[in-house]
Amino acid sequence: MAKGFFAKLQIGLAKTRDKFLWGMDNVFYDDAFVDEEFYEELEEVLIMADIGINATSRIIDKLRAQVKEQGIIHRAKCKELLVQNIREQMRTDGDDYSFENKKTVIFIIGVNGVGKTTTVGKLASIYRNKGKKVIIAAADTYRAAATEQLATWAERAQTPIITGREGGDPASVIYDATSAFKARDCDILIVDTAGRLHNKKNLMEELAKMNRIIDKELPGIWRENFIVLDGTTGQNAINQAREFGEAADLTGIVLTKLDGTAKGGIAVAIVSELNIPVKYVGVGEGIDDLERFNSDEFVDALFDVDRDDAETNNDKVEENKEEQENSNG
Ligand code: GDP
Repeated sequence: MAKGFFAKLQIGLAKTRDKFLWGMDNVFYDDAFVDEEFYEELEEVLIMADIGINATSRIIDKLRAQVKEQGIIHRAKCKELLVQNIREQMRTDGDDYSFENKKTVIFIIGVNGVGKTTTVGKLASIYRNKGKKVIIAAADTYRAAATEQLATWAERAQTPIITGREGGDPASVIYDATSAFKARDCDILIVDTAGRLHNKKNLMEELAKMNRIIDKELPGIWRENFIVLDGTTGQNAINQAREFGEAADLTGIVLTKLDGTAKGGIAVAIVSELNIPVKYVGVGEGIDDLERFNSDEFVDALFDVDRDDAETNNDKVEENKEEQENSNG
């Protein structure tokens, strides 16, 4: 993980952190006792930070159990446990990026304005920098401006792009893209789709049609469906993921605009409520402003933990894991 990226995440989450830590300070004053009011106040702080009702309940239930078990009397003693519980809520088995090394088709799905086009460009650049042969399909043929904007991103990412005419059939773009994919022996095909949530039936039919072409032209190829969610929209992002989830089998989330949002806590809600891993996060409009999601790093940025210390700790954990694996094998 690039240091610069963590710094950006940390700066980006400043508003979320301010709101959150301010609330926390009001709950965790030093000599106050743990009582029912404490849990109620804490619940309010977590919900205000967009962590979501389900994740909040889980975090607080766990804390209640720990308080009982460890006989904790003072609130201040609960703070570390709370951070740990949030960390646990954020853990998923989403650290599988093996698709990056397979022949893969990635559909980029989501409503307009969330950062789909930008994400396609950033992803193309990430994979290209890994030495992959990438191709982009502009399957949002409804808006000429969308194709133009995507073409600009493709140029920035130095990636070939297949486009169709405005109002044309997205499926024919996909067909052309699969032909080019085969002819150029590409590794990754990234498909920018139209973001029309208001017509779910159309969207489903359109996705199904595109999928049939891929199944036929690129049989057996690995598939990913990433939904792009705007981190500044809070709980709305969750609703969008649920709705699109009814039209497509979502395999990952790209959470954009974590720079400057006060609603960054939504990442915790997303992970714990949707059961879809966050794969990448966006922290700006530049081509390098997208990276793999790392839950520990996210929590550290949220609580302003010094990353150097955290990294040393993580390194130790990794070392221990390796030692254990070596002694096992
Ligand atoms: P689309 O309609 O979903 O394709 O969205 P676009 O890719 O056109 O992005 C909409 C706006 O969001 C553009 O102005 C982008 O520059 C901006 N954007 C996308 N990702 C990010 C991000 O991570 N951070 C910030 N600050 N802006 C972003």
